[in-house]
Amino acid sequence: MPSRTDVDAVIIGAGFSGLYMLHKLRNQLGLTARVVEAGGGVGGTWYWNRYPGARSDSDSYVYGFTFDEQLWREWEWSERYPEQHEIRAYLEHVAQRFDLYPDITFDTRVTSATFDENTDTWTVSTDSGKPLTARFVIAAVGALSASNTPKFAGIETFRGESYHTGHWPHERVDFTGKRVGVIGTGASAVQAVPLIAQEAADLTVFQRTANYIIPANNGPVPEPVREERKQDYAGIRERIQNSAFGFELTLLEKGAAESTDEEIDAVLQPRWDAGGFGIWLGSYVDMFFLDEANAKVRRFLHDKIREKVDDPETAELLIPKGYPFGCKRNPLDSGYYETFNLPHVHLVDVQANPISGITPSGVRLRDGSEHEFDAIVYATGFDAMTGPMDRIDIRGRGGELLREKWAEGPRTLLGLMSAGYPNLFTITGPQSPSVLSNMPVSIEQHVDFVAKMIGELAERGAASIEPTREAEDAWVAENQALAEATLFPTADTWYMGANIPGKPRVFLPNLSFVGPYRAKCDRIAENDYEGFAFSGASAGPPHHDREQLLQPRVPR
Ligand code: NAP
Repeated sequence: MPSRTDVDAVIIGAGFSGLYMLHKLRNQLGLTARVVEAGGGVGGTWYWNRYPGARSDSDSYVYGFTFDEQLWREWEWSERYPEQHEIRAYLEHVAQRFDLYPDITFDTRVTSATFDENTDTWTVSTDSGKPLTARFVIAAVGALSASNTPKFAGIETFRGESYHTGHWPHERVDFTGKRVGVIGTGASAVQAVPLIAQEAADLTVFQRTANYIIPANNGPVPEPVREERKQDYAGIRERIQNSAFGFELTLLEKGAAESTDEEIDAVLQPRWDAGGFGIWLGSYVDMFFLDEANAKVRRFLHDKIREKVDDPETAELLIPKGYPFGCKRNPLDSGYYETFNLPHVHLVDVQANPISGITPSGVRLRDGSEHEFDAIVYATGFDAMTGPMDRIDIRGRGGELLREKWAEGPRTLLGLMSAGYPNLFTITGPQSPSVLSNMPVSIEQHVDFVAKMIGELAERGAASIEPTREAEDAWVAENQALAEATLFPTADTWYMGANIPGKPRVFLPNLSFVGPYRAKCDRIAENDYEGFAFSGASAGPPHHDREQLLQPRVPR
């Protein structure tokens, strides 16, 4: 029987997931909840990633909450893709509109969460203040929030300025007249490099793996298009929720394998011109399965790089090799390739000649050559998906540490819960579609489903819910089987944990696709929550009677 707790739920993180979870639990289920957030404001990813050019690669009109029609209608985005400060402003607006601030504690990092099997409660400790007890813990920690700085020898000796794109200072960083080195060529670097190049006197980009990069084609959205979208709230919502990736994009029936080069050009050129994820998530489905199909798409993209980059040697270096297109996150650019046509911008291949260390004055490569800088930007990514969970000491039944349970890779049911960790939920956690989708769409679905599960507990008078080991084993196996049928495991990517030395090579997200995954969750709920076990009798949530719990509430 659960004892009284400080709050019904502790939510870790005040990004998209944490804010909506708080609204749902408090304003709709009538529970008490406290959000604990490491940053000094709301925003999650968008609080920390303030590097030059940071913006979402999702079109603005689908990058936001859809649970409240009025909210969706009243917010105006200024461009096709929302910029970091605009997304932060949007989330601040959401927090104010639903009166979320009183229940958020900022500048506080959760350090541990421990489950007490006698009381069916969690104790959540932080780096400040006294621990909180709760019946539910919701890890709204983000998939890409644990930043990764490689352990380069001598890194602490560098005398210039050092920055990580995922922990950018709040004040403006001025690179004017400076010699700058950028390490990494993922989505963050692709956005930052063109803007850093505008200021720096000299810019060197260290590339280990070239990326396939497609134009963003950003800019203001024409008024008639905006208006048409405003009129189609329900249609857009329905389509993105039931789509493959949370966008209004559909994969083609005809494969690349059976298409001629001319046919491929006719399909891909308009998508290239339109910009965005059309080539990646809205063209040939067979390129994810057949290398022969993938090669035909690669040919188109390689030609584009050669067209954009003046120096043939630099172009060759920028052409990705050795892995299929689409199996590594496809960054969108606004002038990335063209930046390498500028005389003060240099590209250095650190696959052939890796970085051997950082010196007091710059970056040293294995061949002994040294590059001197006033500033180094680490655009070196994240310990994705499991990293944010691993950094908290999460102890479930029998005191088992979650990161030890996940030592060979995450083990979950639906990417929502892990057996032995009752009432602990992850929003867009590993083994859910998450990063293979437009995040807000998956976040809404997960938050709604978690709220439904918590409502179900009350309905049953149960104290806790968790997956059965059998259902979890089956989901882990299904997840791997889905990935192994594709080309994804053939690429060294953060999807595979390959960017972090020593991390097990396991495909981290889930490839069910957004719509079918949603349908699967709904089927499981209808089927008496098949695969989940409810246990313990509850006197009901500590602060409310059951009727009150299930009463929808008007937002305060
Ligand atoms: P990332 O894609 O993981 O890129 C990190 C870069 O650092 C890679 O080029 C990597 O090379 C390089 N690197 C890592 N360790 C290195 C080492 N020891 N030596 C040399 N190079 C090294 O990280 P990110 O660019 O921050 O992006 C992460 C994810 O965040 C994206 O994939 C995306 O999902 C999300 N994101 C989204 C947006 C957006 O929506 N606009 C923007 C930024 C980020 P390898 O490729 O060889 O590992």
